[in-house]
Amino acid sequence: MDRRKFLGNSTKQLVLLNLMGLTTTGAIASTSGSNKVTDKSKIIYRTLGKTGINLPIVSMGVMNANNPNLVKAAWDSGIRHFDTAWGYQNGNNEKMVGSVLKELNIKREDVTVSTKISLGGGSDRMNSKEKKALFLKRFDESISRLNMDYVDILYYHAARKSEEVNDPLIMEAFTELKEKKKIKFPGFSTHDDWPEMVKEAANRKFYEVILLSFNYSMFGDQRVFDALKVAYDAGIGLIAMKTQCKQDWYRRGVPANQQKFYEGTTMNSALLKWALKYEFITTAVPGFTTYPQLEEDMVVSYNLAFTKEEEDFFRSKDVKLAIQSVCRHCGKCIDSCPQKADIPELMRTHMYSLSYGNPLKAKQTLSEIEPGKGLDICRDCGSCISKCQYKVPISDRISDLKEIYC
Ligand code: SF4
Ligand code: SF4
Repeated sequence: MDRRKFLGNSTKQLVLLNLMGLTTTGAIASTSGSNKVTDKSKIIYRTLGKTGINLPIVSMGVMNANNPNLVKAAWDSGIRHFDTAWGYQNGNNEKMVGSVLKELNIKREDVTVSTKISLGGGSDRMNSKEKKALFLKRFDESISRLNMDYVDILYYHAARKSEEVNDPLIMEAFTELKEKKKIKFPGFSTHDDWPEMVKEAANRKFYEVILLSFNYSMFGDQRVFDALKVAYDAGIGLIAMKTQCKQDWYRRGVPANQQKFYEGTTMNSALLKWALKYEFITTAVPGFTTYPQLEEDMVVSYNLAFTKEEEDFFRSKDVKLAIQSVCRHCGKCIDSCPQKADIPELMRTHMYSLSYGNPLKAKQTLSEIEPGKGLDICRDCGSCISKCQYKVPISDRISDLKEIYC
């Protein structure tokens, strides 16, 4: 990825891109955009690493959606990749994706379907054989709910460290499924501090696709861009999630003059464009749940140039300040907790509950936290407050969760 290939050369533009955090690696520079949908042949496509799958840059993260008509509308709008998981909506999410695609009578090769298998919190106490058996059992459930012969991408869901995905028997499970033609490409998803894990996967060359959280809050983190470059150069397909930091609770944690940036639609298109301007990301899976949100996300697939409003959004110091409170799931706060609570997973629970408005997913995330590391262990001592370098209001968010779940 040659930076010069992507960056424009006017000083003004470079200054603006610096403000946006877009001069780190491999970003396309372009401004003066307009958010208009034109004809579908104008949708931008990219190829997913060495898989050869060619995808529109905007896909659908189906997780929070429970309206089959929205999935149909996504297909009609030009979306060709649907991302679901074994654990979403107790399996109903996979059933919905499968039945909508069948109803639409889409040729199987014209759509890319991914699902993910999580082993859950208790898996730490399982041996590799038990993990493999559980993984395969859950995959059977997934494929039968999807009512398909195969899935294009199967992810090991929410990996937190390389050892999980490098377990020889987990890799064996992927290989068996691939040999039986039940999956095309093995992958893993990760929300946590992933740069080392991604680099390791790039060197190992077993996983062909990685679904990772990638958003504007990471713009100053060189480790993130270095890891993405290594993976991209190794031919791994990279798909972005959590691109829009859609976390309404920020409003409570930021001063009044910053709150306006969490209203309206500018932030959604601006943040999605920001992630997709990096060509190492093939596509993103925003989790829209309404028709207007689908429209907002789809306009991005036609034109990545920022509008005037989006440029103003990135120029604002208030936005930079407000966006600081995104939890990167780096895990650096865990040692500050005398109880060793799993703070990153608690922050993720908070995101699903209060931002995504997906109580089922929040409850599931909470239930998958290793016993003795969840909400019940937190003593409200406040020791974690000052330990987050990003100033995430950890204890406020834990209090919110206690109010809801205790
Ligand atoms: S709360 Fe802060 S330190 Fe803890 S995982 Fe999130 S970003 Fe990292
Ligand atoms: S407030 Fe809770 S999570 Fe934070 S350090 Fe204390 S016990 Fe741990």
